[in-house]
Amino acid sequence: MKTTNILGTSFGLVLIAASIAMTGCASTQSSALGLHTKAHSAGGVQVQAVQLAKTSDGLLVSGSVGRLVGYGNSPYHHLDVEIVAASGAVLAHKATSFSPNPIRHSPRVRSHSKYAVKFPELPPTGSVVRVTVHPTLLSACQN
Ligand SMILES: [Zn+2]
Repeated sequence: MKTTNILGTSFGLVLIAASIAMTGCASTQSSALGLHTKAHSAGGVQVQAVQLAKTSDGLLVSGSVGRLVGYGNSPYHHLDVEIVAASGAVLAHKATSFSPNPIRHSPRVRSHSKYAVKFPELPPTGSVVRVTVHPTLLSACQN
């Protein structure tokens, strides 16, 4: 596991360095649960944080999103949160909104919105929790 983690982290850092803030990929690991997290920003929405917590009834995925240049034209987005096994198979998927939506704009404060979604089972060790910005209305999500 350690070797894979190191490679994954390096790859994520390269992606961060190579991408402009508009659209980026970030990859980190949550060693406590043996899970990785991945965040895909799009459409002027940046996934700022992906936090994992084990609860009495499964896994809680939460975090925050912020707005980037380009957000103003398309304020309706939601997040697709997926559990991806080490084999690449998608084990679970949930679409969720963030609040407040649209993300507030403040010239003084770096405002952000929050999201949280629960999965009924703790994913197997080595799984990836992937949070992707889906630039459409939640009600229009076909996933
Ligand atoms: Zn979606």
